[in-house]
Amino acid sequence: MVGTAPAAEEKALEAALRPKALEDFVGQATVRNQLSLVLQSSRMRSTAADHVLLSGPPGLGKTTLAMIIAAEMNAALRITSGPAIQHAGDLAAILSSLTDGEVLFIDEIHRMSRPAEEMLYMAMEDFRVDIIVGKGAGATSIPLELPPFTLVGATTRAGLLPGPLRDRFGFTGHLEFYSTQELHQVLRRSAGMLDMRVSEEGFAEIASRSRGTPRIANRLLRRVRDWALVHGVDQVDRTAASQALDTYEVDARGLDRLDRAVLEALCTKFKGGPVGLSTLAILVGEETETVETVAEPYLVREGLLARTPRGRVATDAAWQHLGLTPPAQDSQ
Ligand code: ADP
Repeated sequence: MVGTAPAAEEKALEAALRPKALEDFVGQATVRNQLSLVLQSSRMRSTAADHVLLSGPPGLGKTTLAMIIAAEMNAALRITSGPAIQHAGDLAAILSSLTDGEVLFIDEIHRMSRPAEEMLYMAMEDFRVDIIVGKGAGATSIPLELPPFTLVGATTRAGLLPGPLRDRFGFTGHLEFYSTQELHQVLRRSAGMLDMRVSEEGFAEIASRSRGTPRIANRLLRRVRDWALVHGVDQVDRTAASQALDTYEVDARGLDRLDRAVLEALCTKFKGGPVGLSTLAILVGEETETVETVAEPYLVREGLLARTPRGRVATDAAWQHLGLTPPAQDSQ
């Protein structure tokens, strides 16, 4: 018998594992404390919270924080994304249907169209939009008052946001990759919810391969659960966790297919670089933005890749990790 579709089950599990309150949100102490103050003060003043911009690589908790903000403010939440807002009219439709105090979450806000972005400036600052009716000389603009709302924008590339948009956020939080200890905590909580038995060393093994990212930690935990179920393993220890993750080709440092492809291209095709980002992206068959926002930040943090003015360079650690020997240096 087959119950729910696999993708739906994975999605439902991911949703179930999301922390619902700020106090359950692991790590990111600085952002959490600052945000807590912003929310507490708005509650005391009975106003909608100031607009919040969250930046950082995928899977670090931006959507989760937006949901927590709405929950902590006891407000409704509307979720949309930059690519879904191509026309100013799309945004006008969303803004004009917001209710008092509602939280509007725009994921990938840097990918919104220019006209929509300009409409957002006024909405954020004055809680007002001008709706243009008609075309050409006969066009008129009708001002529309909006209820106070909180915009939560998420972006993997804060640097790409135009200054005027960035400046209109009252609070900006940058999410960092999680430490192994923090991922350990995420995993312990998730395992409890999934009713899994995992030893402390088992957690440590999964955490160290989770690429500093809670979404990946939870995904690996589910894969370990599959492995344990099929192999009849009741309690997952370090050996079981590492055998399970080896099966899924997650390497000991947590690098995934794209991370490895980037390093391999750098080392084997360009003797370690420097190589321009777009050349690198073409070689691994990915969009430049994906390489820059998904693979690079973690490789840089791990000291495997360096950004230089002349391009990307593989470090000695990268050669070592791939089990390759770097070419001899020119001695001149
Ligand atoms: P983003 O929006 O940054 O891509 P999400 O908020 O969707 O990331 O988080 C992905 C998953 O990771 C969520 O389902 C949640 O379970 C988990 N997660 C993220 N941050 C945390 C955290 N700080 N503590 C516990 N779980 C987290």
